[in-house]
Amino acid sequence: MTVLALEIATSWFAVSEIASDVDTDDVRRIPVPARGAWEQCRELLLEVAAGREVTALGIASAGPIDMAAGVVAPLDVPEWRSGFALVAAARAAFPSATVRLALDGVCLALGEQNLGTTKGVMDSLVMNVSDRVCGGVMVGGFVVVGRTGNAGHVGHVLVPGFDDRCDCGGRGCLEAVAGGTAALRWAQAQGWAGLTVPALVEAAVMGEEIPAAAMGRAGTALGRAIASVTALLDVDLVAIGGVLSEAGPALWKPLNEAVATHARLSFLSGLRVVQSTLGPISVLAGAGVLALTAPGD
Ligand SMILES: [Zn+2]
Repeated sequence: MTVLALEIATSWFAVSEIASDVDTDDVRRIPVPARGAWEQCRELLLEVAAGREVTALGIASAGPIDMAAGVVAPLDVPEWRSGFALVAAARAAFPSATVRLALDGVCLALGEQNLGTTKGVMDSLVMNVSDRVCGGVMVGGFVVVGRTGNAGHVGHVLVPGFDDRCDCGGRGCLEAVAGGTAALRWAQAQGWAGLTVPALVEAAVMGEEIPAAAMGRAGTALGRAIASVTALLDVDLVAIGGVLSEAGPALWKPLNEAVATHARLSFLSGLRVVQSTLGPISVLAGAGVLALTAPGD
């Protein structure tokens, strides 16, 4: 039995074999190709399968997706932006495999619940704050999938006090402030000369003024969005992963202050907002959980 997990992220595709556990060392990644996205994705899957018959494949994709149709339309894969029938393509390439698709945030929630920070927790919000902001919601022990498979798009919750333009076409979305790509763009517009999101986070940790201010905006926006979402859903644990969660007090201080200011209802008094313990493999691990879960489980 060979079980594979595939993650379609914002700037790379990742594949790992799912044995009993997911180990970061076993993850193979390629940058999102400008052309031939599926062909290169299939090559990567075949390489990891190494000639063995694939019996199950779990796919986590950046949104939007159409879960019932098996179609993905991630904002950052140019060829697929208007929709690609990824499940049908995967079934044709691996005819013996059970193929399952879910949103990256849904897989994140599955990964954190089975292996990570929200294990044993019934009601939680999990977020990954990297280039973009993805999220997953668990209520009453069940991951919320939504009508079309897109529940958990917390990156597009509107944040009061911000009016930045978002790649979704709207304005003032959380991701337009707290997404790493957006924060980098903001810092560069303020005159910062760095080029990457990890460098921005590192500079903020070192106390550089503009990067720290960028993390400050991101933290405030995250805290405001978290206060809104937790009031709506009545969850008591929020776990945040992704590269921006590594920014230390520059991000976490304003984040916690915004939560303390806005999450004031009595049922939110025990709300905990913590850094994810599962780290960068959380979405891929969740795709593995998806692959191993029989329908109806
Ligand atoms: Zn948006």
